[in-house]
Amino acid sequence: MLTIKTKIWHVDKDVDGQNPIIVEIGDRLRRGEVIAFPTETVYGLGANAFDSDAVRKIFEAKGRPSDNPLIVHIAALEQLDELVTHVDEKSRLLMERFWPGPLTILFPRKGKISELVTSLPTVAIRMPDHPIALAIIKAAQIPIAAPSANRSGKPSPTKAEHVWQDLKGKIDGIVDGGSTGYGVESTVIDLSGDRPVVLRPGGITLEQLQAVIGEVEIDPALLQKEDRPKAPGMKYAHYAPDAEMWLIQGEEEKVIQEINRIAKEKLDEGKKVGILTTKEHKDQFQQAAHKVLAYGRRDDLAPLAQNIYDALRQFDQEKIDFILTESFPETGIGLAIMNRLKKAAGGNILKV
Ligand code: AMP
Ligand code: MG
Repeated sequence: MLTIKTKIWHVDKDVDGQNPIIVEIGDRLRRGEVIAFPTETVYGLGANAFDSDAVRKIFEAKGRPSDNPLIVHIAALEQLDELVTHVDEKSRLLMERFWPGPLTILFPRKGKISELVTSLPTVAIRMPDHPIALAIIKAAQIPIAAPSANRSGKPSPTKAEHVWQDLKGKIDGIVDGGSTGYGVESTVIDLSGDRPVVLRPGGITLEQLQAVIGEVEIDPALLQKEDRPKAPGMKYAHYAPDAEMWLIQGEEEKVIQEINRIAKEKLDEGKKVGILTTKEHKDQFQQAAHKVLAYGRRDDLAPLAQNIYDALRQFDQEKIDFILTESFPETGIGLAIMNRLKKAAGGNILKV
């Protein structure tokens, strides 16, 4: 692939839509460029959802498998008219409550969207809750297809510099708007069957969805490794640091003991060991590894979600080759955190 010059624009969060930089970025997107920008979840890599040549560049830059459909981002509800054939009652309720925000809904698709965005009968759509993302989509005057702006398989980007590390020379530009908010991707929900199903846990929790539309299930494939997940993307390796990573599950004291035991074993084997932990437990791992990183507190999970990808990337930067991490209850945002940790560990889970 040819190297291209990747521009960087610094944009304030309170930017208004008339700002010349926003107008220029909107123009460039409409004309087929691929540009990364911040959203309230992670940085997205955007392209004109109606332009197959532009969308193809997203797949090439990321090295993303072509059967993994993209989420289409809109800035106004009217945009749904040209994208979907029908909006059912539950989707309407969810949009009212959670848009703009980190909830992606599958809809029956209309023809105009590029086949590369989705070749399925459905299209995944969301309205991001980030002033820069919304201003850019409005300025572009087209729906924007945007997956996370990382190399496929790597931890998602929550800072512009993460996008630069992964995609410099491969994309037309990066809009640097500082750190993202939630830190994990949107929740993906499918309402086309008898019961609503969460295909990917994310920023909006299962409990929040249930409070609005009643019963909601989690795709069983997310809980049992053998099943085939309904979101094509969920079957791929994801969020993985360069190191081998193990997730230790069980009663807190036992988990700490086991992490210390394995860390020592790996240190003795000459490995460069990292421990991904919390402020409550950090002191118990002193001397146990080359890098002990506390990315938040167990009693407040939202900041953990914000920091998870940055933490995984720090282990890569320090060339750690074996990572041990503790686990969390799978409720609230804990469900999304655990999903990312399990994927990052490539299914390496040890129950103690
Ligand atoms: P990403 O864009 O990398 O944040 O991932 C988007 C997620 O949504 C992936 O897991 C996709 O497989 C999933 N997805 C997107 N469109 C659809 C669709 N039409 N049906 C099912 N899953 C989808
Ligand atoms: Mg992604």
